[in-house]
Order: sequence, then C-alpha cells, then structure tokens
Amino acid sequence: MNTKWNLNVLYKGLDDPEYEKDMKKAEELFAGLKAVVRSDEADSVKKIEDILLVMEEIEKTTGRLGAYIGFSQAVNTKDGALMAQMTRLMRMFSDAAEDEAAAKKILGQAGDVDALAEKSQVIKDYRTFVKRAEKEYSHLLPDEVEAMAAAMDMTGGSAWGQLQSFMSSTLKVDYKGEVKTLSEIRNLAYDADQEVRKEAYEAELKSYEKVQDAIAFALNNIKNQVTMMSKKRGYESPLMMTLEEADMKKETLDAMLEAMNEFMPAFRKYLRRKGELLGDTNGIKFYDLFAPLGSSDKKYTIEEAKEILTSVFKGFTPVMADMMAEAFDNEWIDFYPADGKEGGAFCGEVPTLRQSRILTNFDGTFGAVDTLAHELGHAFHNLTQYDERPMNQSASMPVAETASTFNEVFLGAHALRNAETREERLALLESDLREKTQCVVDIYSRYLFETAVFEQAQENFLMADDLKQIMLDAQDKSDGDGLDPEFRHPYMWACKSHYYSSGLSFYNFPYAFGNLFAQGLYALYLKDKEAFVPRYMEMLRTTGIHSIEECGEMMGIDLTKKDFWQASLKSIEEEIEEFCSL
Ligand SMILES: [Zn+2]
Repeated sequence: MNTKWNLNVLYKGLDDPEYEKDMKKAEELFAGLKAVVRSDEADSVKKIEDILLVMEEIEKTTGRLGAYIGFSQAVNTKDGALMAQMTRLMRMFSDAAEDEAAAKKILGQAGDVDALAEKSQVIKDYRTFVKRAEKEYSHLLPDEVEAMAAAMDMTGGSAWGQLQSFMSSTLKVDYKGEVKTLSEIRNLAYDADQEVRKEAYEAELKSYEKVQDAIAFALNNIKNQVTMMSKKRGYESPLMMTLEEADMKKETLDAMLEAMNEFMPAFRKYLRRKGELLGDTNGIKFYDLFAPLGSSDKKYTIEEAKEILTSVFKGFTPVMADMMAEAFDNEWIDFYPADGKEGGAFCGEVPTLRQSRILTNFDGTFGAVDTLAHELGHAFHNLTQYDERPMNQSASMPVAETASTFNEVFLGAHALRNAETREERLALLESDLREKTQCVVDIYSRYLFETAVFEQAQENFLMADDLKQIMLDAQDKSDGDGLDPEFRHPYMWACKSHYYSSGLSFYNFPYAFGNLFAQGLYALYLKDKEAFVPRYMEMLRTTGIHSIEECGEMMGIDLTKKDFWQASLKSIEEEIEEFCSL
C-alpha cells in the first residue's frame, strides 16, 4: 500500500501546463465577475443567473488550484515556490473582494427570491445561497465604511490576534533548567508520570506572568471591536451575529446549554473518580485531567487499520466501507509523519475527482485509527455532496463535524463491545470520556468565560487578574467540585487562540454541538438501522442548503427542545456510571 497521497491526479506539478492554464482561467473568471457585476443587463433574472454561474465557475477552478497548492504545502511546509503560488491565488481573491461584495449586494437586493426561482433553474438551485446573501446584505454598512472597516481590522482586531499568537508561540517556559515552548510544555499533560505533569503545569502557569498583560490587552481590544461592529451592523449581540452566520437559532443553543448544565454533576463524578484513581482526594487536579489510565500498548499497522475500519463500517453501510477501501487503496491518504510535514490531521475535498485527501500523522495507536475514522467521516460527508451544485457543497460550522464525530462514536461503540479484558475496557472508556468531558465541560466553561468577557469588557478594562478570576468563576460553574479548587487553570484564556479572532466569536459551542448531535444520531441509528442510513446520507447531502434546525428536522429531531440533548447526555452518563463501577 502506498503510504503517501497522490496529488498528480490534480496536476503533475507547478510546471504542468494544465496548472498554468487553470491559473489563467481563474484570472479570466475574476475579470468575468467584474464584467457581469458592472454590466447594464436590464433583465434582473439574467443578471442574477450570470453572477451565480460565474461565481460557480470561480469556485470550481480555484477549488482545484487551492486544493493542489494547499495539500502540497501541507507536506512541504517550507517550499518557497508553493508559498508564492498560494500568495498568487490569495491575491486574486483579495483583488476581487470588491467585485464579490458588489455581486453579493446584487443578490442581496434581488427581491422575491421564490418568484425569481420560478423563472430560472439556476436561481432555484441557489435559492438558499441568494437568501443568505439577502440576510448578509441587511447587515452591510455603506461601501466606503466596509472598505475602511476591513482596512482598519488589519491593524486592529487582526493585529491584536497576531500579538496573542506571537506571544504564546514564542513564550519561553523554564522547566527543570531547560527552556521549552508552550506547546511542548502543554503536551506533557499527557505524560504517564504524575510528577512530570505536575512540574510542567507549575512551569506553564508561572510562564504566563511574562505575557499576561500583552495578551489581556489583545483580548479586551478584540472583544470591544467585535461588540462595536456587531452593533453597527444591527445585530443584538456578538453571540447573535455568530448564530446568524451559522444559521442556527438561539433556542437551539439555549436548549443545548441548559441540558449541559443539568448534566454537569455526572461529569464531575467522572472527574472525581478519575482523580481518586490518581490519588487526588478533593476533585481531580488540573494536571491529572489528561493523564492516561491503563492505556493499552496495542499497535496497528495501516493494513490492520484498513481491515478494522472497512469491516466495522460495512455494518453501517457498504457505501462507507467501499469509500474507505478506495481511500486506502487509491492513494487518498498521506499517513506518516515526515520532515516538513504539518502536524495533526485534516481532510480536504477534491470535488472535480469526487474524491478527498486526508493527512494524518499515523503512530499505530488506537487513537490514530480513530483519527482515520474521523477524517474518513469528513470524506464521506464530501462524497454525499458531489452531485450538488458547487456552491451548495458546504456545511455551517456546527454541523461540519457531524459525520466525522459520528464515525468516532460508531467505532468507539464497536471497540467497547469487543474489548477483551477489563483493563482494555477501562482504557477505552476513559479515553472516550476524557474527550467527551472536554467537549461538554471544558467547552461550557469557555462559553461562560467568553460571554462574561464580552459583557464586562464594555464597562471595564479587564486586567490579567480580572481575566483570571472570570476564568476561575467559569471553571467553578462547569467543573465545580470535580476539579480541585487549589489546582485549577486561571490562564486558560491566554493559550487558546479561539478567543482572539475578530472575524469569528464563540468558536466553542460548535464542538459541544458536534459531539452531542453525533451522539444523539447514533442513538437513533441503534433504534432503526435500516431507516437511519438513507435519511442520514440525505441530511449530509443537504447541509449546504439547510439551517441547523432543518438538518435536525430531516432526522426527525427538534433541536430547539431540551429532550434531544438530554438523551445524548444521558448516554454519556451511563458510560460514566460504568467507568465508576469498573
Ligand atoms: Zn474534523
């Protein structure tokens, strides 16, 4: 089996004549967009159609180019030629930003979209796309103000975000006479030796004193900029802006958060129990949260990973199993760590080939097999969408992780059913619960923290000590007596980049949503396997044109009601009970 992915099917290289041809084509298409936007076409149906069609072609062509350059860069992060090509492509987009805004404006003022859809198949297919443009348009400021806001953000919100990223990535942590980076020291939280974890935690907390004030300035300024902009754009609050962009109702978020709050005691029970196993008598200590428990040393080859995944998911649907086999056999996956290759894992689509490409850093553990299941879930989601029109092949943030998380839940349940020893079962349960606790409890604290910072930053400048207190209060409401009050993490705001984006706020609740939605879907699957699969695939196919609630409705779920979320949480509570009794 080839362990590297094949990108030649996209282009043979940057010197492939097809590559330059597509680059030229992209330039022409952007010029075409400029022309249609400015044309004096009097027929409004024709004009909207023309705009949609040229945008669609841009999406197709730049999608292929962007996939090739992006994937190549991911395995050659230091390649200057690729960097230059990426800059070339990005510049095309930034040069076209004004035309794209003008196009959105025309779409946004289209009027009765349903009536127009009767006159044109293209508009009918892009009905949701046009309606979303209409909503966006209603929040746009006059052109010159938009241009000024975008320019000011470069030296405002974005620059503050870069400061946080710079301060945290260059922070020198003193650890046992050595100097470590923040990510190196935070990785020691997974070490099997408690003494190592404890000293790393202490060194980490101590190191923030050097950067806390600069990062506090960044946070205050970003949050105040977002609040100001959301007001000017006519949103009730930054949260409402995020929800509207995600096409998700506030009732849905509230129902989920209320249910999460109700189940906090169950998670605290897990935390206390895990703490006890590690000798923590007053709730778990922060540095023990990620400690491995009874981990198994079982290792898997990629051939074995393929065998496991295809056989397990054949039981779900042969469509998934066949796609997985194709991914392994036909060079969709770049498996192993390598010099100059990115860390982590991702999946990207290649719609023109009806394929995906997956990057992993496979280390043979069960976790690595699980990561493959996750990324192949994204590939499956992509596969369901390839018959849709190009600009309808998307998913808003909360549902984007549904198919991937569902695969993890599916594989996890299979592994638990087949665990041979009590130790193996305990290790599986523990790693599963550790992740779910992050998605529910830690995410809840992040949501509470961000909400409080948005509110309080408007009244007062929040110094590092204020932020530390807000974080501790948030951890008290989430982790409660599950976490030892003497050993918490008052600096969780300084290390997480998610808080420092002027373009996207509350990048936390989607994690909880993805996890609990997938958990609930799995419960539905168990009730009626045959009926579930086609409905699920249909739901995935249409995530680009439906709101979050409509996606739920397609599965027979009312996401605005608490009972769905409670049922998902209940199933995690059952796992916790089992963990505590083992
Ligand atoms: Zn993912």
